[in-house]
Amino acid sequence: MTKVYLSLGSNMGDRQGYLQRAVEALKQLTDTEVEAVSSYYETAAWGLTDQADFLNLTLALETQLPAESLLSACQAIEKDLDRVRHEHWGPRTVDIDILLYGQEIWETEHLIVPHPFMTQRAFVLVPLLEIAKDLVEPQTGQTYENYLSQLDTNDVHKFVTSD
Ligand code: ADP
Ligand code: MG
Repeated sequence: MTKVYLSLGSNMGDRQGYLQRAVEALKQLTDTEVEAVSSYYETAAWGLTDQADFLNLTLALETQLPAESLLSACQAIEKDLDRVRHEHWGPRTVDIDILLYGQEIWETEHLIVPHPFMTQRAFVLVPLLEIAKDLVEPQTGQTYENYLSQLDTNDVHKFVTSD
């Protein structure tokens, strides 16, 4: 089994509903156990900033799926949840990114882990530290807590979910 961390985000339509359905779909994945789900956070858009606020969360799972298969499974879930790819970093019903796949470091055409922007994104690190406080960046050995201490967290707010 490999410990994997995912980042989920939505900024279109019923954001909470999309994220909940994505989490449910991840729980149904074969050879995979979801171990922890963070709180939901409302965050200002990053990169392309002229778009609606996001809801974000992170999730920890243990899986026997190879990384490429997990990525395909995540993309199938995105597709099922109405995602249409328009522009890079643009609005989306649901985005599922692989942050870490064990301690592995690799870069293929389809998959880069650790996720290349995660150390720059408070909307990733705030929910990640909630479920994995002492996690360390595999290449530098620095804690993610240390990366987060260098970021502005003003646009990341815990979101009260309505069930
Ligand atoms: P973004 O998440 O950067 O806004 P997309 O979700 O549209 O953009 O993904 C673009 C591409 O990123 C995907 O086709 C996928 O192959 C690639 N990719 C590379 N590394 C990762 C990763 N760690 N997690 C998810 N997708 C990744
Ligand atoms: Mg993505």
